[in-house]
Amino acid sequence: MNRTKITGINLYDFLIVILYFCDLCIPHTMEKPSYILGIESSCDDTAAAVLRNNEVLSNCIANQKIHQAYGGVVPELASRAHQANIVPVVQQALSIANIDKKDLSAIAYTRGPGLLGSLLVGSAFSKSLALSLNIPLIEVNHMQAHLLCHFIKNEKESPPAFPFLGVTLSGGHTQLVMVESHFQMKEIGKTRDDAIGEAFDKCGKIMGLNYPAGPEVDRLAKTGNPDAFQFPIPKVPGLEVSYSGLKTAFINLVNKNCQKNPKFIAENLNDLCASIQKTLVAVIMEKITLAKKEYNLESVVIGGGVAANSAIREALNLKAENEAWNVFLPPFQYTTDNAAMIGIVGYHKLISQQLGSMKQSVSARLSF
Ligand code: ADP
Ligand code: MG
Repeated sequence: MNRTKITGINLYDFLIVILYFCDLCIPHTMEKPSYILGIESSCDDTAAAVLRNNEVLSNCIANQKIHQAYGGVVPELASRAHQANIVPVVQQALSIANIDKKDLSAIAYTRGPGLLGSLLVGSAFSKSLALSLNIPLIEVNHMQAHLLCHFIKNEKESPPAFPFLGVTLSGGHTQLVMVESHFQMKEIGKTRDDAIGEAFDKCGKIMGLNYPAGPEVDRLAKTGNPDAFQFPIPKVPGLEVSYSGLKTAFINLVNKNCQKNPKFIAENLNDLCASIQKTLVAVIMEKITLAKKEYNLESVVIGGGVAANSAIREALNLKAENEAWNVFLPPFQYTTDNAAMIGIVGYHKLISQQLGSMKQSVSARLSF
């Protein structure tokens, strides 16, 4: 055995340990990590997540099934369900992340936009916990979070480079956003009336599908003919979008045909889903194409519940293949409302010291 070599290695290891404890050679990755608790309660999902810097350790959601019976979210019932769910969901997120609440560095919560009563539950809980742990509280804009979910650590893809065109597609919003940096965002286009998710849900409702109907329309459309029924693309100038006329055209077509044939929906369900989905997607794709050209942007980044839709993902992937668009599609778990996206915004605000205030109130109509 070569004694000198062994001694040499041991001496080297020993020196590294000494230097490490003297803080002289701490590499960047060894810096003390931040643990962020993200809390989301803007609508009908109570969600909590724990992040270590930009990495998600847990991402828990309690869905509120109670609204299905009403075909849409009932605000008062949502607030009550948030109250019942918030403590168990936070406990679950901490336990999966294997973190004690005393190890948290900050709490990030959704300040708006959303339902006032629902937002109040998340905000009151977050403020109380931050106060009791004596750690920073961070306010998060839910729509910014839908776009910034792309900055969550992901082994398969790097985050988008600024500037980019952000597109939020959800149950309450349809926006085109010029994103200059993490927190410099400007709305450049939006829906005049219904959001794309709302249009999916309302068209699904007339066909007897449960709320939220979007995922079911998507699933049924897979075996339907998208050209079976034709709907007009609304002519709205510039970067504005409109979905209410299209929704009405769909409802009128269904009602008219049902009068002649009561089995019309059942006999044409998949074709109806495929045809309306194709048109809903065509409307937003036209405006995304226009915005990208007008603002000369290379990358298109989508977020929100409807970002899970297979037709919109396919349409964007085609643009990436055929026209070299730089397209960013969120992983499915970060499309509909979730707290991991709130946590990642919290992390970026924490490192840039954009801390919140105990006095700040929630806002149902928070803009960028
Ligand atoms: P909000 O923030 O407005 O509450 P979310 O971001 O949670 O909304 O998105 C919910 C919306 O996304 C609902 O309208 C739902 O129908 C829609 N949605 C979810 N998955 C799909 C899908 N695969 N296809 C179409 N719409 C979908
Ligand atoms: Mg949302």
